[in-house]
Amino acid sequence: MKDDLSDAGVGTKALWAGEPGREGPTQVPIVQSVAFAYGNVEEWTEVALGKRKGHIYSRNTNPTVAALEEKVKALEGAEAASSFASGMAAVSNTLFSLLGHGDRVVTIKDTYGGTNQLFREFFPRVGIKVEFCDTEDAGQIEKEIGKGCDLVYVETPTNPTLKVVDIRRVASAAHAAGALVVTDNTFATPVNQLPLGLGSDLVVHSASKFLGGHADALGGLVCGPKREVRKAFHYREITGAALDPFAAYLILRGLKTLQVRVEKQDRGAMEIAGHLEGHPAVEKVFYPGLPSHPQHEVAKAQMRGGYGGVLSFTLKGGFRAVKRFLPRLRLAHRAANLGAVETTVGSPATTSHVEVSAKDRAAMGIPEALVRYSTGIEDVDDLIGDLDRALGSSSR
Ligand SMILES: *Cc1c(COP(=O)(O)O)cnc(C)c1O
Repeated sequence: MKDDLSDAGVGTKALWAGEPGREGPTQVPIVQSVAFAYGNVEEWTEVALGKRKGHIYSRNTNPTVAALEEKVKALEGAEAASSFASGMAAVSNTLFSLLGHGDRVVTIKDTYGGTNQLFREFFPRVGIKVEFCDTEDAGQIEKEIGKGCDLVYVETPTNPTLKVVDIRRVASAAHAAGALVVTDNTFATPVNQLPLGLGSDLVVHSASKFLGGHADALGGLVCGPKREVRKAFHYREITGAALDPFAAYLILRGLKTLQVRVEKQDRGAMEIAGHLEGHPAVEKVFYPGLPSHPQHEVAKAQMRGGYGGVLSFTLKGGFRAVKRFLPRLRLAHRAANLGAVETTVGSPATTSHVEVSAKDRAAMGIPEALVRYSTGIEDVDDLIGDLDRALGSSSR
């Protein structure tokens, strides 16, 4: 019998949810097998028809992958979860499984670059209309939803300018219009934000970031009601965007320390954001935990005490200053990634929004002098020292 962990905290669920029983191996085994064999044809048929528990083929289900889905489902407090080969596979498979020709989506301008590209390049081809709202204009979002729509897609905090969307407010407008709400919770993680509790119908994740936490596995998930998750899962069975069991294992292993990692990253990012806000080489700092952030009150109300490990800032001196600054950091990977245990730094023009043209980046309000900083779990004093040294020399 499964222990009921529904009342447990996020840290406890990260360790115990979806795990094997209390006997046998203490860790989820990696079942690296494409197919599952049966000696008895009747049993095989019953499993294939879903009348009996078991696995047939790993594009459909796999025990290691199923354990990960159980764990993330518990973390998000959802009824069901399905995994995917990457975060973008989770986003695209989920949306294509729920939408069709003639449907209308309301979203924000600041979605992740890949998601934005999905909306701009691939949705129009199949006749799905998308309305892009100013991320900070809750009134405009409500107005567009009020005109009638089938699905509202938000991300909060956003990548890379850390804007915040009021999930409760968007959800109440969406539900009045009969639309589903999908929230990308990659930046906050379930440690800092539980969108389903705020009225979102579904939550999507890039597990390649904080959930896995070690920058060694790609993966994605959707969590929500059985009916919608089932549709996304079924679509994935056919598109074949299944998560590999070894990647599932790496993400499961990373998830055990989710809470300790994220809480430390939250504290580090907060301290660094405060430090940089007063720095002479820095023009502006974007972090929802700062009282100066325009949506700080919304963030405070809907987040759970921490504001995430990612911050961004613009340098005085434009993109030239960024090019001088980045190579001078010693304690950061210059890479198109975030949410890892090591600090990772990048410029949106080369990372999250590389798919987006310079013109569209400007239209999206992403300055060329922006630096995205994903705080690792290093000692924060060392990170601040590294930033100061790199900023000092870059302004000379
Ligand atoms: C990285 C990211 C994605 C895409 O995830 P992949 O695993 O790289 O496909 C989606 N949303 C957000 C917010 C991200 O940061």
